[in-house]
Amino acid sequence: MGMAMTEKQGGSDLRANISEAKPIDDGAYLLSGHKWFCSAPMSDAFFALARTAAGITCFFVPRAASNGSSNPFMIQRLKDKCGNRSNASAEIEFAGTWARRVGEDGRGIATLIGMAHLTRFDIVVAAAGTMRTALMQALHHAAHRSVFGRRLSEQALMQNVLADLALEWEAALLLAFRVARAFDRALEDEREQRFARIATSAAKYWLCKRNPVFMAEAMECLGGNGYVEEHGLARLYREAPVNGIWEGSGDVICLDVLRAIARDPSSVAAALEEIEEVAREDARIASLSADIARSLKSGANLEGEARRLTERLVLALQASLMRRHAHPTHADVFIAARLGGDGGHAFGTLPPGTPYRAIMEKAWSPA
Ligand SMILES: Cc1cc2nc3c(=O)[nH]c(=O)nc-3n(C[C@H](O)[C@H](O)[C@H](O)COP(=O)(O)OP(=O)(O)OC[C@H]3O[C@@H](n4cnc5c(N)ncnc54)[C@H](O)[C@@H]3O)c2cc1C
Repeated sequence: MGMAMTEKQGGSDLRANISEAKPIDDGAYLLSGHKWFCSAPMSDAFFALARTAAGITCFFVPRAASNGSSNPFMIQRLKDKCGNRSNASAEIEFAGTWARRVGEDGRGIATLIGMAHLTRFDIVVAAAGTMRTALMQALHHAAHRSVFGRRLSEQALMQNVLADLALEWEAALLLAFRVARAFDRALEDEREQRFARIATSAAKYWLCKRNPVFMAEAMECLGGNGYVEEHGLARLYREAPVNGIWEGSGDVICLDVLRAIARDPSSVAAALEEIEEVAREDARIASLSADIARSLKSGANLEGEARRLTERLVLALQASLMRRHAHPTHADVFIAARLGGDGGHAFGTLPPGTPYRAIMEKAWSPA
C-alpha cells in the first residue's frame, strides 16, 4: 500500500492540496490531480488525499478499477534521490481515477494522522536499528585494523569515539523500546496513550537529528574504506537524512510536539512525571526537567523554541531511561556528557576517566 498525499504546493501543509475528487453515482469518486511524491508506485493500492466539496478527504485508490480494468494512474517520472534508492519514489497523476472514500468526508488529514503516528514510530525504531548496524561495523573494523603498530580498538582516542557512539545508540534503543511499550499498552492504559502521543514525535525528531551525524562518525571510523560503496556505511549515510524529512520534517514534528502540549497538556505531564521519578536521584536530570516545566508554565509563545524544547525533553527522557535501565557507569557518563556539560559537540569527547573499553565491550554483546 502506497501513500499519495504530497503535492508541489502541499507537503508539510497538506491543507494546500488541490487534487479534486468528484462523486459518481455508486458512492465512489473520480480523482484528478498531480502528486509530487508517491513512493512504492508499483503497489496494488494507495491512500490518497483529494479535495471534495467538504474539504481534504482520504481515498483508497486501487490500481485496478472496480470492473477489473486498469485504473488511470500515470507515473510521470521516478525521482533521482540522494539515497533510499531501493524504494522507488515517483511523480504521479490521477486523471479520472476511480477511488473510494475512507473515513469522514472533509476529514482526510485526521484519517491519516493515526497512520502517521505509527509510521513515525517505525522511523524511531529504524533510527535506533541503523545506529546499531553502523556501530557494529565501526567496532568490528577497529578490532581488526592496526594503525601505528596497534589495533584501533586499543587506542584511547578511538575508544572515546566508539564508546560515545555506543552510548548514543544505547540511549536511542532505550527510547525506541520505551515508545514501543507505550504503543503496546496504550489501549488499556490512558497514561501510556498520552505518553505515546508526545514521545513518538519527540523521539522521531531527535533520533533523526542524531542519525546522520552518527553515520558520518561511524563511516570515519573505517577511514577511506567507510566512504567506499563495498562497505555498508555509505548506504546508511545516504539513507540517514530521509527519515528526518518524510512523515513530518524536523520543524513540523517539533510544532506537532507543541500542538500536543497545547491540546492535551497531560501528554507532556506523563513524560515529565516519568522523568521526575528518576530526577529525585540525579540533580542534572532534576535541573533539566525543572527548566522544561518552567518554559511550559511561562505562557510564552514557544513556536521559535520548539526544537530547543523537544531536544531537551528527549534528552531528559533518555537520561531517565539510561538511569533506570543502563549500566550505572553508562548512565553516569551519558548524563555527564549530554546533560552535565562535560562532553563536547562531536563524538569522541566523553569526559576524562570514562571506562571506554568496558563500554565498547558491552556494546559488542549487550545482553
Ligand atoms: C524519499 C521520499 C519519499 C517520499 N514518499 C512519499 C510518499 O510516498 N507519499 C507522500 O505523500 N509523500 C512522500 N514524500 C514527501 C514527504 O512526505 C514530504 O517531502 C515532506 O512531508 C515535506 O514536505 P515538502 O517536501 O513539501 O517540504 P515543505 O513542506 O516545503 O517543507 C520545507 C521545510 O520547511 C519546514 N517547515 C514547514 N512548515 C514549517 C513551519 N510552519 N515552520 C517552520 N518550518 C516549517 C519543514 O520542516 C522543512 O524543513 C516523500 C519524500 C521523500 C524525500
